[in-house]
Amino acid sequence: MVSIHPAVDGGVKPAKDGFSGGTLTCACTDNPVVVEISSQSAHNHVCGCSKCWKPDQALFSQVAVVPRDSLNVVRGTEKLAIVDADAAIQRHACTQCGTHMYGRIENQAHPFHGLDFVHTELSDEQGWAPAEFAAFVSSIIETGTDPKDMEAIRGRLRELGLPPYDCLSPALMDVIAAHTAAHA
Ligand SMILES: [Zn+2]
Ligand SMILES: [Zn+2]
Repeated sequence: MVSIHPAVDGGVKPAKDGFSGGTLTCACTDNPVVVEISSQSAHNHVCGCSKCWKPDQALFSQVAVVPRDSLNVVRGTEKLAIVDADAAIQRHACTQCGTHMYGRIENQAHPFHGLDFVHTELSDEQGWAPAEFAAFVSSIIETGTDPKDMEAIRGRLRELGLPPYDCLSPALMDVIAAHTAAHA
């Protein structure tokens, strides 16, 4: 069986009604980075791009967004550094264990400005909005997946209820296009 990501391999778990956030913790056993989020996540998905952080052995990352003002680093700020300051999404990672704690867009003209990208599996709380689709699926070939395996991988994604796309989902592509049209 194809392993996609530990958070979805056993079946996608539903969101809990009224769920209002939780605490993300990095992998350090000593003095971990702790991030508090005071809202439910949205647009959760698995992502095949090479930039999103993924747990060891996972083929895909799992990534969601939360409003920027609902996210607070409450411990270990001094251990965080930006992975690539030139990227549209500045990923703040723990310099000790490598876990990406949140991604932030500083460009105010970007369609997703105001949203931070987070990996909700870093939280022990159950009830986060589940992954809804798979983005940038073909990109896993760039990081070593054999093209011959893609049919089985896309099949497994569909079986899990995660329709596979080779960019973002149609709904999010529409958000980007509408933003572009409004600012043309
Ligand atoms: Zn760490
Ligand atoms: Zn990605």
